[in-house]
Amino acid sequence: MSSDGSDASGEETPIDGQQEDEWQNIDDVVQDRRAEYIIKLGDEEWQYEAPIDLNISKMTRIELNPLMWYNHDIVPKKMKITNTGYTVILSAKWQRERPYLIDGPFTGKYVFSQLHFHWGKNEMVGSEHYLDGCCMPMELHAVHFKADYLSQEAASREKDGLAILVYLFRLLPSPNPTLVSLVDGLSRIQEAGTSTRLSTSEALVNWTRPFAGDYFLYWGALNHGGEKQRVLWLVSREPIGIAQEQVARFRTLYDVNNQPLLQNCHKLQDRCGRSLFHVNPSGKCSYSLLPVPREPPPLTANQIVDMIENFQVPDL
Ligand SMILES: [Zn+2]
Repeated sequence: MSSDGSDASGEETPIDGQQEDEWQNIDDVVQDRRAEYIIKLGDEEWQYEAPIDLNISKMTRIELNPLMWYNHDIVPKKMKITNTGYTVILSAKWQRERPYLIDGPFTGKYVFSQLHFHWGKNEMVGSEHYLDGCCMPMELHAVHFKADYLSQEAASREKDGLAILVYLFRLLPSPNPTLVSLVDGLSRIQEAGTSTRLSTSEALVNWTRPFAGDYFLYWGALNHGGEKQRVLWLVSREPIGIAQEQVARFRTLYDVNNQPLLQNCHKLQDRCGRSLFHVNPSGKCSYSLLPVPREPPPLTANQIVDMIENFQVPDL
């Protein structure tokens, strides 16, 4: 059958084509409804606080459309880190559109706002989320907000405004080269309220490794002095590698009272019977957290589009 739905005899055979289209449409509707269901679930479950212990054997498996990543591979025009007195925030400006996510559990476009870190007094107590009852050395949060609300602040007042990507760290024997520039920058922001520009050619993709599936998903509130913000959490099963001496550099910072900033993790909360999803599971499910990946990050959606657009048929 040719691509226009007619066969070699020239007679049209629209039934197969139509059926295929209908199935495609039904599939899209089902996937859209699942994303809508996740967002709606937030109405009941968002008030239970984050962070929690994540255990893969106690999760509901769910299939969602692959999460699509755009521009996380583009090197920013400017990038800076700031010691807020509570954490280190990495923020950036891009020449063109900033990184964003679509599909997966989302019913819209979620734009990158900032990423920041959580750590503890030692490597045994550095992560906010626990995995199978264990705390990890550090944790990275990449905050995204729904583009419709224009800013993170405005989005934080909405019921579907904020999504945070979570990456846990695992200790490696040698320093992670993609963290060197950032960790070196910490010596220039020792005091609370100070910032420094990072002269780096790193793109976000080096820290926020894209995942299309095989991640954990749940609703949990962030408590800011009694005021709760509604957050959809997406936890990567692939950790980031870091050396012990790199973690230790975060503890050399000072807080607003000029005291060493030794820990900044929220207290672990009860699950309280809320839904926990394992999205598009892979086959490897013995432990919740996977080993540190060795291969380069997977391509983002815009890299794939670029490849297709620039593909040239070789001359034969
Ligand atoms: Zn955080």
